Amino acid sequence: MIAYQLKLGNTQSTELMKIKKNHSLKKYNSFGIEANSRYFCQIKNNEQIQALLEWRQNTDIPLLLLGGGSNILFKKDYQGMTAVIATKGIEIIKEDEKYTYIKVAAGENWHQFVRWCVENNYAGLENLSFIPGTVGAAPMQNIGAYGVELADHLYALEAIELCSGKVKNFTQQQCRFAYRDSFFKSIAFGQYLIQSITIRSPKKPQWKIEYAGIKNVLKGQEINAQNISNSIITLRQSKLPDPAIIGNAGSFFKNPLLSEKKWQALKQQYPTLPSYPQPNGLIKTSAAWLIDQCGWKGKRKGNAGVYQKHALVLVNYGNATGKEIGELANDIIKSVQDKFAIELEAEPRIIA
Ligand SMILES: Cc1cc2nc3c(=O)[nH]c(=O)nc-3n(C[C@H](O)[C@H](O)[C@H](O)COP(=O)(O)OP(=O)(O)OC[C@H]3O[C@@H](n4cnc5c(N)ncnc54)[C@H](O)[C@@H]3O)c2cc1C
Repeated sequence: MIAYQLKLGNTQSTELMKIKKNHSLKKYNSFGIEANSRYFCQIKNNEQIQALLEWRQNTDIPLLLLGGGSNILFKKDYQGMTAVIATKGIEIIKEDEKYTYIKVAAGENWHQFVRWCVENNYAGLENLSFIPGTVGAAPMQNIGAYGVELADHLYALEAIELCSGKVKNFTQQQCRFAYRDSFFKSIAFGQYLIQSITIRSPKKPQWKIEYAGIKNVLKGQEINAQNISNSIITLRQSKLPDPAIIGNAGSFFKNPLLSEKKWQALKQQYPTLPSYPQPNGLIKTSAAWLIDQCGWKGKRKGNAGVYQKHALVLVNYGNATGKEIGELANDIIKSVQDKFAIELEAEPRIIA
């Protein structure tokens, strides 16, 4: 282990950023893939963030920021430094007539934060219950579920520009959120460490319960954040594999967005093609449906497979390598391309 002593100007910090060499990432990715990182550290406070930035300025070694590892596939070892962001803190920073503003550190567990909000009567995030991972990674792909996206409730975000070490404040608009996308995942990929986000919780919430089965589970219960959150946990537990038991990264593919022309042509050939018109004129269809039509649901190839209850979820049945999962994903992409002429795009980050 290398202990990296931080020097901040004239002050000598006692906080050490402990760097481990050739560290296993098996525990740090929800696929449960065995992969090593050449260097590894955990970042628990601001001093350690400063130490990481200083370390980075003195080296060419690539840096991988990791939260809960629930949206990443390691197809091979990582030849750089993996820094797990584990900073903590939740703070009410202001309140007005309409909203309460809650600032939360990147390393907080997302679902625990949602439950904290629900239990303290701060509404808005309840539909995003039970999504694995950390708060800091949530803006990366603008997490979404059951008719709600992070973008609907994020008010501001604080990120450190890695090349300069400067803290920058982003408004919701500046984050350029889109379907499973953001400024940080696209244009500025790898350039920022997201340090905290601020959520705006409405004092008069508008509940979203129209989506896929929430109403059925809620039947007879009062409609409030707590009951919606509990219903969503029940629904998700019934459909998705628990990564602690079967390794997975949730949905492996994004739902494709089709042009009107392409959609018309497909709809004629496949009348049951699911269609969700988008405000920008494109039509979203279901990647799960396309994969299911190609006969992949429940299929297994060695240790890798397509979950039997959900065609969008690729799973590690035991000792699958990242390469095996990647090969399965490529086979699926090819059959959807051959049958529908649609190119599926992977949702998780792939280390290849
Ligand atoms: C069972 C299951 C269900 C899921 N359901 C959903 C769902 O309903 N909706 C949904 O949107 N997603 C879902 N996901 C995907 C995943 O949970 C989310 O994308 C989550 O936000 C990832 O968080 P993480 O901390 O694990 O990110 P990681 O996998 O650790 O990282 C993901 C990306 O973010 C970057 N990153 C992480 N932390 C930071 C930081 N502080 N600053 C800058 N970059 C950072 C990483 O470098 C990487 O590029 C699911 C996953 C699983 C396993």
